[in-house]
Amino acid sequence: MDPDECCDSGCVPCERDRDGVAPLDLENYIGGKFVSHSNDDWLNVLEPATGYRFARVPLSEPKDVDTAVAAARAAQPDWGALSHAERADWLDRIADALEAKYEEIATLESQDTGKPISLAREVDAHRSVTNFRFFAGLIREHVEEQFEMADATNIVISKPVGVAALITPWNLPLYLLSWKVAPAIGMGNTVVCKPSELTPMTANLLMETLHEIGLPAGVVNLVHGSGEGAGAPLTSHPDVDLVSFTGGTATGAKVAEAAAPQFKKLSLELGGKNATIVFDDCDIEKTVNGVARAGFLNSGQVCLCGSRILIQETIYDEFVGKFVDAVKSMKIGDPSDEATELGALISAEHLEKVESYVALAGEEGGTLLTGGNPAMAGEFEHGNWLAPTIIADLSTDSRCSREEIFGPVVTLHKFESEDEAVAIANGTDYGLAGSVWTGDLAKGQRVAEKIHTGMVWINTWLHRDLRVPFGGVKNSGVGREGGRWSLGFFSEPLNICLKHD
Ligand code: NAP
Repeated sequence: MDPDECCDSGCVPCERDRDGVAPLDLENYIGGKFVSHSNDDWLNVLEPATGYRFARVPLSEPKDVDTAVAAARAAQPDWGALSHAERADWLDRIADALEAKYEEIATLESQDTGKPISLAREVDAHRSVTNFRFFAGLIREHVEEQFEMADATNIVISKPVGVAALITPWNLPLYLLSWKVAPAIGMGNTVVCKPSELTPMTANLLMETLHEIGLPAGVVNLVHGSGEGAGAPLTSHPDVDLVSFTGGTATGAKVAEAAAPQFKKLSLELGGKNATIVFDDCDIEKTVNGVARAGFLNSGQVCLCGSRILIQETIYDEFVGKFVDAVKSMKIGDPSDEATELGALISAEHLEKVESYVALAGEEGGTLLTGGNPAMAGEFEHGNWLAPTIIADLSTDSRCSREEIFGPVVTLHKFESEDEAVAIANGTDYGLAGSVWTGDLAKGQRVAEKIHTGMVWINTWLHRDLRVPFGGVKNSGVGREGGRWSLGFFSEPLNICLKHD
């Protein structure tokens, strides 16, 4: 199809390349080599901000997954036999090599996801390096536990689980992949990664980096492709022992269905619809800024984003006025501009989904306080743009207030009492995170303890200590990763009981 005709008809501009720039064809990384996939099917990788194609990702098939799993299986005994200290040294080498590519990671991530370069540096590049460095330290310090009995000693050693499937989404590509790869290989497993087909670039960069530093072949393998074509065969593969999945709740259910009959070890980090509770004794200026960041970081495409904002009625009007002003002043546009605060949404399909929720909010009785499609000029005309959107007057039972939208859309709700705030916060099927904003820390903690989620921040949001457990309850997931919880998940404890003479 003629690309211009394609764009004029309003569909995704599927094959517009920058003048004279051919798209980069990615390859799988299996057994220490970059290899072609076994068919000739490709998917175009588009810049969310412009619609330009800049790469093609292989649409691998089960045969490719088999080869990758076999390579991981073959490498596991030798890799698993290394000491914790030796594997920690490898993690540090990876961190050093990634740190040398800090700017490249940020630039690729910004191009691939449409997020602002400043965010890609501060969050994505920074955490990708830190994840390897952090787990290197934790694994080096890891000590086997012992339990003494009157006549025996129990030693608990942590053994690798085996071959791990690591499946990651598009919103924080290398950040989340490194969050899994580091503890998985650190504890002696070998892995097969399947990044989102929408954002494969930094996963490819990680493979190049591992190749350059000479990580033993087969320890980390990568199969590109779609969820159905590559993800599903990986999670159901009989020679995969563990699945660590981060993504949407509906996909998580499919992954659980595939993994459960084979009793694979499973961790599911899924969607969220997190409440932000604003009490009338908060510091209003700081809270407005914190709540705006929680609602709109990465254009709301963070599982932890506070997309339901519950405001005590005594300060509702004052808070909403200041909040709307703060949000309207956010700078949306060219992701490579240092001043940009909000970039493009990941894809035209996702934009359409988010916009359908904004339309639904109108039908459900909501009032749009700010939002809409910003007018973008020049090459950004074909990007996936939506201004930060605030919706008031929706019932807390409405679909827009309970379902995950995963875009720059927040809903506002009034509450009178602590109990009412907790009831609204708990009134969704999700249970990932939340935040409470108050001048009374005892009240903040009391409320936090009643919120049915895995994480609650008080007077802050996304303030991360990598040692703490990360994960959710209800439809937001199963299990915890982070710190020693990751080390536990990516290992099998073996108890050896030594009877004394
Ligand atoms: P998604 O559609 O569920 O995809 C996640 C990953 O699973 C992608 O690599 C996808 O591949 C793959 N996949 C799709 N179908 C599969 C199947 N049947 N078997 C195995 N793998 C399959 O999620 P997304 O749209 O990428 O990400 C957004 C979601 O992730 C949101 O719901 C967000 O809340 C959640 N999330 C959660 C956390 C957390 O820590 N709790 C963190 C970040 C994001 P393709 O992309 O190639 O189809």
